[in-house]
Amino acid sequence: MKASFDSLSLTSKIFVGMVLGILTGFLLQLAFDDSGDLTFSLLGAEFSTYGFFVDGIFNVIGQVFISSLKMMVVPLVFVSLVCGTCNLSEPSQLGRLGGKSIALYIITTAIAITLAITIALLVSPGEGLDLTTDATFTAKEPPSLAQVIINMVPSNPISAMANASMLQVIVFALLFGVAMAMSGEAGKRLGNFFEDVNHVIMRLITIIMNFAPYGVYALMAKLFSTIGLDTILSLIKYFLLVVAVLITHALVVYPLILRIFAGLSPVMLLRKVREAAMFAFSTASSSATLPITLETAQRKLGIKNGVASFTIPLGATINMDGTAIMQGCATVFIAQVYGVDLSVSDYLMVILTATLASVGTAGVPSAGLIMLAMVLQQVNLPVEGIALIIGVDRLLDMTRTAVNVTGDCTVATVVAKSEKQIDLDVYNDPNAGDRDEDVDFKHFESNEEIKS
Ligand code: ASP
Repeated sequence: MKASFDSLSLTSKIFVGMVLGILTGFLLQLAFDDSGDLTFSLLGAEFSTYGFFVDGIFNVIGQVFISSLKMMVVPLVFVSLVCGTCNLSEPSQLGRLGGKSIALYIITTAIAITLAITIALLVSPGEGLDLTTDATFTAKEPPSLAQVIINMVPSNPISAMANASMLQVIVFALLFGVAMAMSGEAGKRLGNFFEDVNHVIMRLITIIMNFAPYGVYALMAKLFSTIGLDTILSLIKYFLLVVAVLITHALVVYPLILRIFAGLSPVMLLRKVREAAMFAFSTASSSATLPITLETAQRKLGIKNGVASFTIPLGATINMDGTAIMQGCATVFIAQVYGVDLSVSDYLMVILTATLASVGTAGVPSAGLIMLAMVLQQVNLPVEGIALIIGVDRLLDMTRTAVNVTGDCTVATVVAKSEKQIDLDVYNDPNAGDRDEDVDFKHFESNEEIKS
């Protein structure tokens, strides 16, 4: 059994970890009694199953795994973006890249939310529903657009890194990289140093990924032992609606965009983003998944560092198509439950607000709900309506994050193709990027090997 698990590819191992984790969680939930726990005795002492497994082992392994991913985000984005920018052939390329990436991110988000609202209006998920809930939701104040723009430039880059303020880190790295490119010999020397650091960081990510199957198992086991299936059943129409639109967007809209704008095989892209999508699903955070998304873009999709290091971190921060889909469905749902008729201009307002709001929100779990509060306020819907859907939001959060990450990879591929910054042999090779997955923990590469 051990030997056969070892012989699986890393992607398959992560998948196995995910499925086993979900099963473990459900089994624990079935075993729990009414108090939501089960005690067992070991060596004469009484133990709580919940405390020992769910809050203990699974929690620790899961959190350590997420922290080790997050640990990589700031160094990775900074170093790889500096490398990418200082290697760009001309400064105007940066402007073009930025323009194309931002435009495509905004267009795909607008398509996502329009699709969501259209399908939601056809399905009417909230019609005739009389939901009472004890849950409450207090909206945090979302930042204004002006504040988002002001906040993009860090007044202190070290504090931006310490707080993982990604847009600020991106802006600083871009400026630093451009300045390096204009600094002649000094810039070149520094560039070599950053290339080396980048190489080591990518290696560290590969090492961390080898622990992913266990981390993903623990995360899933913990989550599914506590997830309330009753809540999902009571909101099944809304739940299935969001999932259906998410799947449609990932399997129809992205492939169409890829075919039309890049002329590339969508099947290949979907196949290669599986791993990043599974990470996104398990962590519900595009930001924590960023190291894997970037590695997928470069090693599996063949996108050159100059484009990937810019477009992918930017996407993880500003592109949230899956989140916009949830917001579209939730707005229609909440309006119907509260019996409010929204006009066409209200819906246009929702599309505009949700699309712009996604720019200023971090890729962390539940961020979409904060943005939803802003969207609801724009069209005078009660923000407390969020309490109705909060019970099913975690599972949807996981699913929409997988779509967010798929969207980042799709846009990066289209931009890279249009800039001729993609290695098509790598893109079309189904096994590209796999060979580096195995890390030989017993041997360190000797200095001689590294030099060669
Ligand atoms: N969890 C999502 C992400 O990180 C954001 C959200 O929809 O809440 O992309």
